[in-house]
Amino acid sequence: DTIGRNLDRSVATWPGRDALVDVPSGRRWTYAEFGAAVDEVARALLAADVAKGDRVGIWAVNCAEWVLVQYATARVGAVLVNINPAYRSHELAYVLKQAGVSVLVASQTHKSSDYRAMVEQVRAACPDLRRVCYIGDASWDELLTGAAAVAPDQLDHREAELSCDDPVNIQYTSGTTGFPKGATLSHHNILNNGYWVGRTVGYTEADRVCLPVPFYHCFGMVMGNLAATSHGACVVIPAPSFDPVATLRAVEHERCTSLYGVPTMFIAELNLADFASYDLSSLRTGIMAGSPCPVEVMKRVVAEMHMEQVSICYGMTETSPVSTQTRMDDDLERRTATVGRVLPHIEVKVVDPATGVTLPRGTSGELCTRGYSVMLGYWQEPERTAEVIDAGRWMHTGDLAVMRDDGYVQIVGRIKDMIIRGGENIYPREIEEFLYGHPKIADVQVVGVPDERYGEVPLACVILREGAEPLTLAELRAFCEGRLAHYKVPAGLRIVEDFPMTVSGKVRKVELRERFG
Ligand code: ATP
Ligand code: MG
Repeated sequence: DTIGRNLDRSVATWPGRDALVDVPSGRRWTYAEFGAAVDEVARALLAADVAKGDRVGIWAVNCAEWVLVQYATARVGAVLVNINPAYRSHELAYVLKQAGVSVLVASQTHKSSDYRAMVEQVRAACPDLRRVCYIGDASWDELLTGAAAVAPDQLDHREAELSCDDPVNIQYTSGTTGFPKGATLSHHNILNNGYWVGRTVGYTEADRVCLPVPFYHCFGMVMGNLAATSHGACVVIPAPSFDPVATLRAVEHERCTSLYGVPTMFIAELNLADFASYDLSSLRTGIMAGSPCPVEVMKRVVAEMHMEQVSICYGMTETSPVSTQTRMDDDLERRTATVGRVLPHIEVKVVDPATGVTLPRGTSGELCTRGYSVMLGYWQEPERTAEVIDAGRWMHTGDLAVMRDDGYVQIVGRIKDMIIRGGENIYPREIEEFLYGHPKIADVQVVGVPDERYGEVPLACVILREGAEPLTLAELRAFCEGRLAHYKVPAGLRIVEDFPMTVSGKVRKVELRERFG
């Protein structure tokens, strides 16, 4: 179905339940109020001459308006273009032009980012861009004023023209391995995925979902917003961008039952000096995704954050995003060693990347996905689309995985991150998991760097624990001695303050390689 009609059903079913809480501004909406607020923005878009298929950009940090614009654009059949809040004017101009954005909704400022100044800087160079509104500014109020002139039945007329296979969203990938790609997704793609992700963690109208993950990314807008609203749960926004203190406070004050994050976010929360002082007893579940989670972190999330039913999801922007997920009754072993099993109505297979032949269970190869979740394509890039989606509609993920006998999938690493040392394949994750156990190491990333003799060798980039004595390469190697195969022992060590990250919270190994290669 379309996202608009699905929201109508939620409003009719749970009118008095909370739909959205914006903690920083103290505003909250029940489903009835949320439905009305979405319709107001949707009518305002009609008044601003937004036609079916027009691209509406959103360049904003997390706030209630982001969510309203998400549903309002879907309701009028526009294509929402998510723009990464970490972008600067150059990247902004690229996306505005590439997607042909005609209306843009933006934050004014956040921390050191002056969004308004950057938009004004590139505006003249973007001929399609005819209207810009800044959230919390007169230009936003002015947009809303237009709603009064549009009768509600005009929204119904527009809705009647829409099909669930229409594009509704262009989401850019995280840019972990290179320049982000714009995945074009339909109502059918993302609404179904949100629904199944929510159903797999058992969402009902009693759930309150704390979302410190960015809305610009599918983690926030699909696995968060669409999963919650399709089951009558409430979305709680703790802060405009990730803030571990604000997150735990929001969980405590709003009695959240579910908390999301990439592993690095959970690590930051668990490492807060006053972590033990927060009452997190309302939590039961949550979603961890995006990158592999160290086992120790998972154990603490379950034991100390009360998230006994925490779920691991694996997916990618191009597949709406989730393909595999752990189930609520899975044991710790499955939740730490695997990324779950395939969701209903989706297929996965593991193939030999060179030949495309399906491999037996227990063998590592490239993971491929097929089903309703596979994107329409990269926006106006048919060649790049054809590189990843084959004639049989299988999406080639670029991830290395093993399917176990029990059907659970293990992610071994990314094909692009694999280190090949003198013909020997090394998966950085295995070394990282091992080094994580060193008492001086707070966090570690392993990348391949060029080497004359072996072609490539592993380099460990380490963040030391607070107050730890310096760490030497000799000491690190001695720690590995006899416990890790010799070819996996890091050939080099770099001590760093932090890692280059994407806004979705992933380490950009490409940048580490460039810096130290
Ligand atoms: P880009 O494609 O621009 O380089 P990206 O692949 O990081 O960036 P996303 O679509 O946000 O962009 O992320 C999808 C990728 O994240 C997957 O292909 C996989 O490598 C990784 N990933 C997602 N979930 C998990 C998980 N649970 N465990 C390990 N890796 C994961
Ligand atoms: Mg990718």
